[in-house]
Amino acid sequence: MTTLWDRPNFDDHEAIHFVTDAASGLKAIIAMHSTHLGPAAGGTRFWHYADDDDAVTDVLRLSRGMSYKNAMAGLPLGGGKAVILADENRTKTPEMLAAFGRAVDRLGGNYVTAEDVGMSVENMIAIAGTTDYVAGLPVEGEGDVGGDPGPHTAKGVFLGLKAAVKRKLERDDLSGVHVAIQGAGSVASHLARHLADEGARLSIADVAEDRVAALAKETGAAIVDPADILFLDADVVSPCALGAILSEETIAKLNTGIIAGAANNQLARPEDGQRLAARDILYAPDYVINAGGIINVSTEYLDDGGYELVRQRIAAIPGRLDQIWEESASSGRDPAAVADAMAKRLIGRA
Ligand code: NAD
Repeated sequence: MTTLWDRPNFDDHEAIHFVTDAASGLKAIIAMHSTHLGPAAGGTRFWHYADDDDAVTDVLRLSRGMSYKNAMAGLPLGGGKAVILADENRTKTPEMLAAFGRAVDRLGGNYVTAEDVGMSVENMIAIAGTTDYVAGLPVEGEGDVGGDPGPHTAKGVFLGLKAAVKRKLERDDLSGVHVAIQGAGSVASHLARHLADEGARLSIADVAEDRVAALAKETGAAIVDPADILFLDADVVSPCALGAILSEETIAKLNTGIIAGAANNQLARPEDGQRLAARDILYAPDYVINAGGIINVSTEYLDDGGYELVRQRIAAIPGRLDQIWEESASSGRDPAAVADAMAKRLIGRA
């Protein structure tokens, strides 16, 4: 019999809580991967899993990812994640959310939740009715700590992309540098504005035609077919839409020297990091470059320094990428593998 401890995605998680509330029908799993640096923080996903086993795999994998991401963002937080196992009709009731909040509350602040796939801001407000351990609730006003993470994520990606251009192209400015952006959503739009302001030449693609048209008009970007965007002859390709877009097949067709974008889980498989390195393509590990949003949300929750600290933590992203690329160059290991190793050192699991 395979036990939880033998599973391939089990990584010495500190605690895994299986939660049920018969009255509301709640079934959830809260995984705390590491509290070495602080409370285990990470969002709650509401999802219908064909098999309960898939939910366990998801929560184990995602909570470890949060440990790495929070550590590399320089936050005093560990990593955790929760999944609520939805039924086929994705029934979600106020009673269920209240019961989930109570389960989070019982962990006494050792797990801090936030919004993730399948949850809305309203759902998070409902959960905050039964626990204080919720980050990322709405706040008033532009520039405030908290609120929409998109602009903060975009700022970090912009700074990281500039660091990559400096390293690879030995250029301090972006004037005329061709950046191909996959996606024209929240992060991509803010990123495109930063890049356009610095004179970059932009190509963008999105399956949502109205969105891409509006962004192209605003930034002067060329509109490209979504099927072609990753393979353009461009100085930088910036994936800001989907995960798992860098695979054996797509990497062979890339025509760029730099991959620097916001999308989560860009590598289809760990060995795709080596495939990029073998083609001499500089890769900015996704969870390092896209940490601006989590930095903003967490700084609000921790209430440890206000907007200035958010700005400083985001400004540290390019330096961390440089450290990764430097270690990659000296060790021969690809940047994604180096980032994982650094994160493990930070959480005391070298
Ligand atoms: P979003 O939903 O606002 O935008 C995503 C865009 O991608 C949408 O406009 C969608 O139409 C487009 N898209 C979907 N399939 C596409 C395809 N095949 N080709 C081209 N475009 C396609 O999401 P977002 O908040 O901007 O996030 C973008 C990515 O960055 C996601 O992978 C997300 O997980 C990641 N990310 C976002 C944040 C954040 O703060 N929002 C933080 C970290 C990571």
